[in-house]
Amino acid sequence: MKVLFAASECAPFVKTGGLADVIGAVPKALSALGVDVRVMLPGYPEMAAIMKGGKTVRKIKNLHGGSARLVAKKAEGLNLLLLDAPHLFDRAGNIYLGPDGKDWKDNHLRFGGFSQIAAEVARDGIKGWQPDIVHAHDWQASLIPAYLKTKPNSAPPCVLTIHNIAFQGLCEPSALPKLGLPKKLFAPDGLEYWGKVNFLKAGIVYSDRITTVSPTYANELSLPEFGMGMDGILQTRRDVLSGILNGIDLDVWNPETDPDLAANYSARTLSKKKKNRAAVEKRFGLKHNPDAPLFCVVSRLTEQKGLDLLLDVLPGLVDRGARLALLGSGDKSLEAGFIAATRGYTGSVGAVIGYDESLSHLLQGGSDAILIPSRFEPCGLTQLYGLRYGTIPLVSRTGGLADTVIDANEAALADNCATGVQFSPIHAAGLYHAIARTCDLYAQPKVWAGMQRRAMRQQIGWDRSAQTYLDLYKSLGT
Ligand code: ADP
Repeated sequence: MKVLFAASECAPFVKTGGLADVIGAVPKALSALGVDVRVMLPGYPEMAAIMKGGKTVRKIKNLHGGSARLVAKKAEGLNLLLLDAPHLFDRAGNIYLGPDGKDWKDNHLRFGGFSQIAAEVARDGIKGWQPDIVHAHDWQASLIPAYLKTKPNSAPPCVLTIHNIAFQGLCEPSALPKLGLPKKLFAPDGLEYWGKVNFLKAGIVYSDRITTVSPTYANELSLPEFGMGMDGILQTRRDVLSGILNGIDLDVWNPETDPDLAANYSARTLSKKKKNRAAVEKRFGLKHNPDAPLFCVVSRLTEQKGLDLLLDVLPGLVDRGARLALLGSGDKSLEAGFIAATRGYTGSVGAVIGYDESLSHLLQGGSDAILIPSRFEPCGLTQLYGLRYGTIPLVSRTGGLADTVIDANEAALADNCATGVQFSPIHAAGLYHAIARTCDLYAQPKVWAGMQRRAMRQQIGWDRSAQTYLDLYKSLGT
């Protein structure tokens, strides 16, 4: 089977969040099952070196104001198809945001153009390679099924995966002719949304199957409090919507071999984790306290992630003797809040504002617990890394967090199946109570070590989910 993936980011080349990890990992897991996957990505500056050595497989005379080409090249175990369109993608800085921190004004043309060419590849194939399925990811690739529907006869089926419904991609309807889409699609049962064109809605309406990244999030999406305006349309597509849990790349995230750790360890040599904790304490300027846990956060700092709640309960965390090491960037007021906390609680709270892949590995290796108090979380990856590294996840009970962490309640502890701590409802008092419970568990070394070992044994690789994707593709009759 041949599958064309289309997405806007892919680890290790270009990453702003979990989407990139997924796109970097799933094709490899699928190819282990015999699926031939090509991954189409925009040609950002990060891809320049790869494009230089690649082969031009398609030339495009004019794509929204400039010529473009598709470049094929194998890199990092992936068969890439890169859309080299310098006028759209060769820009310094964030792949979605301009220097003013706002969306690039032509994002609809950048990702609309990307989707248009992906749809052409899906329909015409490339140098004899003809996909049986096109798998579009998030709003940036969501116009693909709309383009395919304009000539349905020659189009392969399309699967859309929603990695986060908060990002939908809106533009004015006057852009439709430029995007090359018929005006008749601009209707309530098409891609119209409160007078705008909504890319994600197009994907939801015109895809043959829709998946999201955890079963709980799939259920939540049809509710007004989680659907972000898409709940109604998703209810009408309930029969084709399913949740397939994300996994992690077990080679990249492996405490036994991770080069970013001060000491490698396994479930049998957990005491070596202490060396990593010492390295984190040093890096974040934290005073060692063996009697209380070191918590970490590795996150975008946004409303979604609930880290304002953590700021509210920091005095309580510090009172318990616990420590916090935070790595993140985003919302300026949250950044300022955590920087202020490092001054107010010197030696107890440390923060690095920024994005640092290597430091994120050290934090997973050196912390006792990882805090993820998200208001909503489609799947979440950092709790999975936490499990793999014996770093107990403390999570809100929502989305994929609910599906991947087993709360240390009395019954779970008695049954020896707890792997973390959950809390709900999602408010500051609930978070504080969960932090206090985590500190109490940490104070019982045998119970804690048991949870760590159990966490590290969880099956969180991609094999099972890749098989589920393959079954889904097969159900489309190709
Ligand atoms: P989301 O995609 O909503 O940001 P996920 O938990 O699914 O959340 O994925 C986040 C990914 O980004 C993880 O791989 C995490 O380690 C990484 N990450 C987030 N913030 C940072 C940061 N400041 N530095 C390094 N890695 C980060």
